[in-house]
Amino acid sequence: MTAESIADDISKPFQLEQSALRGRLIRLGDTVDVVLTRHDYPPAVSRLLGEMFVLAATLAGGLKFKGTFSLQTRSDGPISLMVADCTHDGGMRGYAKFDAEAVAAADDASVPSLLGKGHFAVTVDQDNQGAAYQGLVELEGDSLTDCIHQYFRQSEQVKTGMKIAVEHLNDGAGTAFWRAGAVMVQCLPEEVSADQDKDAIEDWRRTMMLLGTVKDAELLDPDLSPERLLLRLFHQEGVRIFDPQPLSVRCRCSRERVEAMLKRFQPEDIDSMRQEDGGLFVTCEFCNETYRFDERAVGELIGQRTH
Ligand SMILES: [Zn+2]
Repeated sequence: MTAESIADDISKPFQLEQSALRGRLIRLGDTVDVVLTRHDYPPAVSRLLGEMFVLAATLAGGLKFKGTFSLQTRSDGPISLMVADCTHDGGMRGYAKFDAEAVAAADDASVPSLLGKGHFAVTVDQDNQGAAYQGLVELEGDSLTDCIHQYFRQSEQVKTGMKIAVEHLNDGAGTAFWRAGAVMVQCLPEEVSADQDKDAIEDWRRTMMLLGTVKDAELLDPDLSPERLLLRLFHQEGVRIFDPQPLSVRCRCSRERVEAMLKRFQPEDIDSMRQEDGGLFVTCEFCNETYRFDERAVGELIGQRTH
């Protein structure tokens, strides 16, 4: 076991010696707070995007890849789009598109009320290899966790148990901040051979019962170390805790990327983006960074357009 730490913004892998099941504990402090505070979305939108964030961090940590893991919802409800990205080295970003009036008028904060009908997409973009499509499922269930379970049932043969929590907390001195946390346990198919099936079913049942005892407050408590929480849950399972991976807010936008995007546009589309002075600006939806192009720069973009 590594030394106890109160570190936030981490993904901590663990293994249960009794059953060979693997898992991961996620703690998000500043990472989720910076993104949700910066966007200043309505609370119901922030909460769902916070859930996307913690799910992206949780699922990305279980994969071997070099590039970007991305979760996305596209649907016909008040929130039409949500994106949460996590790179192989823990850089996270996300945003949502929504109709503020429709969000305010929604019956409740469930997935059917806020997202409506649509899809949940999981993609891994491998560096230098283009998008490697992974999976798409219909949005089904009341919560995003339900939708993710549906995804695992349909598109991957990986048994997955997960508890997540997202909350806008108050420090008692008037400062509010977002926190998120998760514990996930997975049973990878290659680790269960046929003659172990009966034991494996019992191991899984016992582990899910233990996972079911975790409280939202424990997932979110900044004063409860990940090690103490994992020992509390899985002490009898012989939990082995590995070194954490740090998570942080990182956008990958740049002037060069925005230029490359604009060069793919038709001249009339670029013209329609121009301000009165002939220039234009592009704002990154992830981080709100604004890239400004004056009249001369726009002229050059049109001249260098790629087809
Ligand atoms: Zn950006």
